[in-house]
Amino acid sequence: MEPINASPDPTDALSSVPASGDGRAPTGRLRFFFGPMDCGKSTLALQIDHNQARQGRRGLLLVRHDRSGTPTISSRMGLARNALEVHQAMDLRTLVRDHWTRGARVDYLIVDEAQFLSPEQVDQLAELADDTHLEVYCFGLATDFRSTLFPGSQRLFELADELDAIQVEVLCWCGRPGRFNARVHDGDVVRAGDTVLVADTAPPAAPDGVDIRYQVLCRNHYRTGDLGPHAVKGHQLSLT
Ligand SMILES: [Zn+2]
Repeated sequence: MEPINASPDPTDALSSVPASGDGRAPTGRLRFFFGPMDCGKSTLALQIDHNQARQGRRGLLLVRHDRSGTPTISSRMGLARNALEVHQAMDLRTLVRDHWTRGARVDYLIVDEAQFLSPEQVDQLAELADDTHLEVYCFGLATDFRSTLFPGSQRLFELADELDAIQVEVLCWCGRPGRFNARVHDGDVVRAGDTVLVADTAPPAAPDGVDIRYQVLCRNHYRTGDLGPHAVKGHQLSLT
């Protein structure tokens, strides 16, 4: 065994880093919590907001593509909080800095339906985390009904400091973990169309007489389009 070298580290004297610190400027972190529909993303978003607020911190709640008319982050458990709607052209750096200019505190951001952010807006969130102490919590779906990444989610996978797969498991009708958000149109799984119809907490508006809904499926049943023994073609039983 090598003897322990008791002499001081010779590089200490050369170091410009104060001994008491780790030498890194504090920055915020960009985190992405993702999962399929119904996995409890909005509930977790509201829980994190609640925990932060209890510490005396102040946050901004943002949501993209809220269809309720009054932007809110709402969970299926019945909780809801007002939020700011993010528009396609909105610069999120400007949004936060405008709040600071007005003297409002913003310590953290919570972004629900973050899959709908543009890649540029995700870059803006990363810049805010790096250049300020802002903590950024994003929540959203990873993939759309075509089973491909949303552009905003792809950029979050590329840039986020932390990726968290939400552990509330949503099951396919067969009992396997459901990871795919299938769009069901008159009893058939469809794999092309407008991705914006997918959202976490509200059924999409459909033209009169057209039955469009979403069902979380395992990969096998997403691929085969098998909606389970309770599905009747053209007349789906809704289990939610
Ligand atoms: Zn299945």
